Formats: sequence, C-alpha cells, structure tokens
Amino acid sequence: MSNQQDSGKHSQADFATKLIHFGSEIDRTTGASSVPIYQASTFHHEDVFNPPQYDYSRSGNPTRQALEDYIALLEGGARGFAYASGMAAISSTFMLLSSGEHVIVTEDVYGGTYRLLTSILSRLGIETTFVDMTDLDQVKGALKPNTKAVYMETPSNPTLKITDVAAVTNWAKENDLITILDNTFMTPYYQRPIEQGVDIVIHSATKFLGGHSDVLAGLTVARTASIGHQLKQLQNGLGTVLGPQDSWLLIRGMKTLKVRMNQSEISAGKLASWLNERKDISAVFYPGLIDHPGREIHEKQSTGYGAVVSFDVGSGERAKKVLNKVQIPLVAVSLGAVESILSYPAMMSHAAMPVEVRAERGITDGLLRFSVGLEDIEDLINDLNQALQED
Ligand SMILES: *Cc1c(COP(=O)(O)O)cnc(C)c1O
Repeated sequence: MSNQQDSGKHSQADFATKLIHFGSEIDRTTGASSVPIYQASTFHHEDVFNPPQYDYSRSGNPTRQALEDYIALLEGGARGFAYASGMAAISSTFMLLSSGEHVIVTEDVYGGTYRLLTSILSRLGIETTFVDMTDLDQVKGALKPNTKAVYMETPSNPTLKITDVAAVTNWAKENDLITILDNTFMTPYYQRPIEQGVDIVIHSATKFLGGHSDVLAGLTVARTASIGHQLKQLQNGLGTVLGPQDSWLLIRGMKTLKVRMNQSEISAGKLASWLNERKDISAVFYPGLIDHPGREIHEKQSTGYGAVVSFDVGSGERAKKVLNKVQIPLVAVSLGAVESILSYPAMMSHAAMPVEVRAERGITDGLLRFSVGLEDIEDLINDLNQALQED
C-alpha cells in the first residue's frame, strides 16, 4: 500500500488535495467521476485456478476498498477498514484481546465503549481498568502482568479532557502494549495519532467524517501491515463490514471534511467564548479556551480544537428547559454534522453509565454538549441566549 508518503508531522499542506484526489476518485473502467457502488455479494471466477481479486463482499468489496484506502491515506497508516458502525469498529478491534487479558482505558470513554467493556467483554474474561488519562502516573499504576493494550480518547467525550498521546504511547511501547485511539472528535484533519506512534486509530465515521447525519459507519486504521493483517482477519471473521451503499455515502461526505471542520471550529470558538463570559454557566469545556487545563498538550498533538463545546447550566432542571426551548439545533444523540446537535449526555450518550460513575467523571445533570454545525453563529448564539433566559 502506498499510503506512507505522508510529509512531516502536522503537515496540513496537501490535506485538502488528498481529500479530493485520494486514488480511486475516478473509476478506471469508465472514467466516472465517483467510485461506483458495487452492489454485489459475490464475484464470478473467470478462471477457478486463478481466483479474482474480489471473491465475496464480506472479504472484500471494491467500493468499501476505496473507502478503506481513503482513510488509511488520510491517517497516514498502512491499512484501513470500514465497519457497520463505530461500535462495530471498536468491538472488532477489542477482539485482538483474548480471555484473561487486561486493557487500560480512559475513564471518560464513549458511553457505548464503556458498556461494551463492562457488560460484554467482561463476560468473556477481558479485564478493564479505567483511569484518568490526563495523569500519566495513573496509567502507569494500572499496568498488570496481563495488560495487553491501552485505549485512549482525546479530547474525551463529553468533558473534552486531553490525553498526552506521545507520553502514553511511548510508555506503552516500552511495555509492549498495543495502543488504540478513538479519533472521532478530531478527525485526521486535526489530529493524526499514527504520527505519534499509535498502533490503531478508530473512528465513528457516523460523526464528522460522514458529516450529514445520514450514515452509520465505523473505520479503523492500522499503523503497520502486521496489525493490518490482524484487523483484516477480525473484520472478515466477525463480519462487521460496511455495505457498499454506505461506503459510497461516507466517501461523498468525507470530501468536504476540511471546509466543514474549519467553519464549524470558528463557530465553536465563538460559542465557547460567549458561554465562558456568562455568569449563569458554571463550566465550559472546550480545548481552545485559554484556561482549558489540557490546552498546551492538545496544541502539541493537534492542529485544531474541533467543533464540540460542552457546558454546565447548573442543574438538570435547567438543562431540560434549555433543551425544550432551543429552536435551531437538533436535540439528539450524535454530533459532527452540518446541522448543530445539542445533546444531554446524562440521559443520552452516557445513560449506560451508573449515576455515581457519571458524577465522578464530571458528567453532571446540568451538562449539555453542543456540536456546532454550519448555521450562522449569530443565529446559534441568539437562539441559545433565548433558551438560557430564566422565565
Ligand atoms: C458515536 C461515537 C462512537 C460510536 O459510534 P457509532 O457509529 O454510533 O457506533 C464511538 N466513539 C465516539 C467518540 C463517538 O462519538
């Protein structure tokens, strides 16, 4: 695979060009201007002694392959894989672990990943220790003789805590651990963990990569061919693949990733500053704010702050009022779309987490998560202003 021609660290110079000219953007047989949707489950063997490149769509489909090569190129890895959802990507990746093995996971991990680890993988004898990954000593302290992997998510969801990716990864390598990072919030436009040595990057492509709230998908990228080989075996063996229609839709969305991220980030910065100045908001979480505790580390490993702003309105009662009064954002689970999405982690994405655990992790009853879309920021601020008004 010719995906490692990436220039130096954090080079954004050719990113937009790569988004448009990723290798399969023109169909070689007809010259068509987009990747054809190969809606086929199986492929004819012209010569049974010489099997074709594609033989069955679970094992390989040309539309999905174009997407898989695309994400590998953007992340700078050896090989990419596409799955039916972000959770399909995450659960398939965790199947690298065997019964009796242990994984160290960031404590404010995505709610679905928390549920997978605590109620499904735990049954299969895979042990998890959750730690505050902003503290390297806690990560080190969690090491056991059976530890196999470290799982990061930075910025974390929904409190946007920052993990020092290089520090954790370097320590993990000294201890022969596999490093995995959920890069959903930043996308390869702002953050490319493989450049920091991370072994496997995961995306819920349902979010910013797809970008239009119309496709559910997951992606992984392996740093090396050998990890890629293992992930391929799992994707094919578990059958967690993405279908050709959804693969095509995701490719279509990804082409505009840079312009969407740039615009949403400018607006998110304005929204975060506006919220930060209000006396009736008890906390604002956004890595771009001067007083964000992880800002310096974030700037070392990323080139942007993203489009998600979380804030605490003080109480569950007030949060519910705001959710009822906003007019513009979709009030929903999910994030990373052209339309703004306001969500209520305590009752939506993190409902699977016990109340005590949520409280410990700062996911209070007054916390709202705003994923800033492409609307005019003045309209979004005016709308939130009226929703926050006490009546
Ligand atoms: C949404 C999300 C997931 C899960 O992805 P699905 O596509 O919903 O299965 C995983 N990680 C993060 C950070 C997410 O936001």
